Amino acid sequence: MPRSRTILIVEDERTLREVVRKYLELDGFAVLEAATGTEALSVLQAQSERGQEIDLILLDIMLPELDGFTVARKVRSDADIPIIVLSSRGEENDRLSGFDIGVDDYVVKPFSPREVVARVKAVLRRNAGLGGAEDDKPIILPQLRIDPRGHAVIAAGKSIALTAKEFDLLYFLARHPGQVFAREQLLDLVWGFEFYGDDSTVTVHIRRLREKIEPDPAAPTYIQTIWGVGYKFEASE
Ligand code: CA
Repeated sequence: MPRSRTILIVEDERTLREVVRKYLELDGFAVLEAATGTEALSVLQAQSERGQEIDLILLDIMLPELDGFTVARKVRSDADIPIIVLSSRGEENDRLSGFDIGVDDYVVKPFSPREVVARVKAVLRRNAGLGGAEDDKPIILPQLRIDPRGHAVIAAGKSIALTAKEFDLLYFLARHPGQVFAREQLLDLVWGFEFYGDDSTVTVHIRRLREKIEPDPAAPTYIQTIWGVGYKFEASE
């Protein structure tokens, strides 16, 4: 197992920090937080003194004390840590001057946390060149293969056609084998906060997935129902 990668979130809105942290942690990242620009610099300093790397910084621009750009400039002068700026709408000028000092990407608020996690992974992949590929590695079981590159699923030797959401749901569950997720959690994590459906959306997708991938949809091998709680993926066939 590679060490888990560490992300520093610099954001003065606590709820935003917490929600992004939660999503990053679910994806296996270690997360550090800073609420101000000054705090960000001291976290960076402390980590570097301990010889502990920070792999990427999520950086808000409008911050108390030092603003995000001052922090980015300082980071750039000391180290080559990738930076993704979290900017508000209408900060187009900020966007431009941000690129001048070499930030790696922008996410415009309000954003979906899943979008942020996807951008984090993309930037890490780009920067690492290698090693990042584990983020979209295929899941291979004796009778089921799920490959995010090309959204390809093969069950019992047959190629299965899934819709994009069916694929996302299956891949998400399969990446967290044995972990139980409630329907509302799956709505948040797979569909995202911007989606205003209800839990039956999840139920319907699970049923279709079972019809497509399970040897016996009435007695599922892979996607198990935990009554009163939700669903989990079982990797032992
Ligand atoms: Ca802010």
